[in-house]
Amino acid sequence: MAENVRPKLESYLPPPILKLVKEAGERASQLGMGVYLVGGVVRDLFLKRPNYDIDLVVEGDAVRLAHVLANESQGKLTVHSRFGTANLRYPDFSIDLATARREIYGRPGALPIVEPGRLVDDLIRRDFSINAMAICLMPQRFGDLIDLYQGKQDLEKKLIRILHPDSFVDDATRILRALRYEQRLDFRLEADTEILLRRDVSKLGTISGDRLRHELYHILMKEPEPEKVFARAEKLGVLKQLYPSLKGNSRLGQKFARTRRLYKRISLATIYLCLLVHEFNENELGQFIAYFNLPRTMAEAVLHTVRLKAKLCELDNPKLKPSEVYRFLRPYSAQAIRANLVATESPIAEKHLKLYLTKLSSVKPLLNGDDLLKMGVSAGPQVGEVLKALHEARLDGVIKTRKGEEEFVRSMRSGGP
Ligand code: ATP
Repeated sequence: MAENVRPKLESYLPPPILKLVKEAGERASQLGMGVYLVGGVVRDLFLKRPNYDIDLVVEGDAVRLAHVLANESQGKLTVHSRFGTANLRYPDFSIDLATARREIYGRPGALPIVEPGRLVDDLIRRDFSINAMAICLMPQRFGDLIDLYQGKQDLEKKLIRILHPDSFVDDATRILRALRYEQRLDFRLEADTEILLRRDVSKLGTISGDRLRHELYHILMKEPEPEKVFARAEKLGVLKQLYPSLKGNSRLGQKFARTRRLYKRISLATIYLCLLVHEFNENELGQFIAYFNLPRTMAEAVLHTVRLKAKLCELDNPKLKPSEVYRFLRPYSAQAIRANLVATESPIAEKHLKLYLTKLSSVKPLLNGDDLLKMGVSAGPQVGEVLKALHEARLDGVIKTRKGEEEFVRSMRSGGP
C-alpha cells in the first residue's frame, strides 16, 4: 500500500499553496483527470527544505485544468499550448502544470520526441530517483506517495541515482545536474551512477552551447556554493569536457567565497562567471563566448574582466589621483570591476577598485549645463569642458559644495585653475 504523506504535506506547504493544490485535485477529479505534485518540491518536502516552485503533472489536459483554476483564483495564467503546459502566477509563488509526457530519445543530446502519457511515463523520463517521486492530489487518494524508483530510500541514504543505464547518454546535461544536487545536498553519487557518469562524460559534447549555458547559469545562480560543483566536476573529468580551460581548483573556491563576503546585496552569478574566465587569454575567451553563445551583456562582462586584468598593473600605483582612477576604470562594466577586485593580489589596485565602486562611480557635480549657461559660460563645447573640469575637481575632493563649484566656475572663466 502507498505511504500517505498528507500530514507532512499539510504542515510543509504554506496555506495558500495547500489550498490551491487541494483545489487542483478536486477539479481534476471532477474533470476525470489525475493530478500529482512532482519533482523538486516532493524531494524537498522530505528533506524539510523550503521550495515553493510547485510542479504539477496532469494525466489529462493540464491547460484545461489551469484555465479552471485560474477562473477560481486570482492567478495570472500563461499557457504554452504546444507543450501542453501552463503557469499560474500568484504574488508570492507560482505553479507549473504540465500534461504527463512520454519521451522518445533519438540521437544522443538531441531533444526528445514528446507525446501525452501517464504519470509513470512522466516519472521515468526524470533525472534521478530523488526527483522522480510524486504525491497524488485527488481527494480520494490525497497524499499518497508514488515512489517507483526508491527515491525516498535514496534520500535517506543521501544518494544521487539515475533511473536507467542510458540516462546520461539520453541527456548529458544530467551529468551537471547530478553534481549540482550532490554538492547542494551533501549527497554522494550512487556507485553505478558514478561509473556511468565517468563512462558517458564525453556525451557532454553532444549538447548545444545554449543548453550548456543554461546548466552553467543554474550552477552559478542556484547553488549557494557553486565552487563545490566545479571542484567536483574537475575531479570527475567533467570540467575539461565542458570546456578545456575551465578550472575548479581551490583558488577559484577562495575567490567565490570572497565574492560572497564582499557583495551581499547583489546577484552574484555574473561575477562568478567573470571569475571562472578571469585567467583566460582573449583568444580562449572569444571561443568560450561563441561556444556557450553568451548573450551580449554577459559577453561584455567577461571580456571587460579579462581586458581589465591585463591592464590592472596600471592601478598598482599609490600616487594615482581619484580622478585618474575614475578615468581609467570608467570604460569597464561594473561586474568586471567587481570581479577584478575579488581576484587582485595587489592591495593598492584593490584600494583603487574599491574606491571606484563605493564612491567615485557615483560622484557628480551639482551644477548642470543650464546652471553654467546662466553663469555666463558660452554655449558650445566650453560647457562640456567646464563640466568635465568640475567633475574632476569633485572626484579629487578639491570642491565639496555647490558654492565651491560656483567659485570654481567663476575662477575658470577668469582664467583660473
Ligand atoms: P531546483 O531545486 O534546482 O530548482 P528542481 O528539482 O526543481 O531543482 P528543475 O530544473 O526546476 O529542478 O526541474 C524540475 C524537475 O524536472 C526535476 O525535479 C526533474 O524531475 C525534472 N528534470 C529537470 N531537468 C531534467 C533533465 N534534464 N532530465 C530529466 N528530468 C529533468
